[in-house]
Amino acid sequence: MIDGGFEHLEKEIRKCANCSLHEGATNPVIMKGSRDPNILFIGEAPGKTEDMTGIPFSGRAGKKLDEMIGYMGLSPDDYAVINVLKCRPPNNRKPRKSEIEQCKPFLMAQIRFLDPRVIILLGNTAEEAFFSRKEMQWGVPLVTDEGISVLKIFHPAAMIYQRSRIDEQKELLDKNRHLWE
Ligand code: SF4
Repeated sequence: MIDGGFEHLEKEIRKCANCSLHEGATNPVIMKGSRDPNILFIGEAPGKTEDMTGIPFSGRAGKKLDEMIGYMGLSPDDYAVINVLKCRPPNNRKPRKSEIEQCKPFLMAQIRFLDPRVIILLGNTAEEAFFSRKEMQWGVPLVTDEGISVLKIFHPAAMIYQRSRIDEQKELLDKNRHLWE
């Protein structure tokens, strides 16, 4: 368990050397958005642009996420965005299980501090990190013991590479509007 406030947590992330990913990272990527969000989006890991800017979803996938957030009708105060990993994996490879486990205390501390009503997992890596196993179906929400509604949808990068996913994603969002409206 990581104690202290959000600023302390940020400092801990900035000096973290728990896994080798910090060696190649330009910036750790911590969060963007509201510090008091209703909805928390959780992605996978920083890419090249995020590593340069230190801001999650600031590249091409970020544009897709912004479009999705517009489609959901959210305002900036409604949401925050974080990733499972805070440092960029080389060549954007998939996070390793060991890296996910080593970074997980930061993920769980962020969720605790941000205290969202709804968590939206952007893809399978976010689900595996959050639950430590795979148990969700796409677009079918569940409620945790803590009373948080959790929904798994496609990662915004999937909208870039598979354009058919755009309409599928909209269907998943439309089915679940009651979670945030
Ligand atoms: S990815 Fe996470 S665990 Fe690994 S060095 Fe960065 S902050 Fe630490």
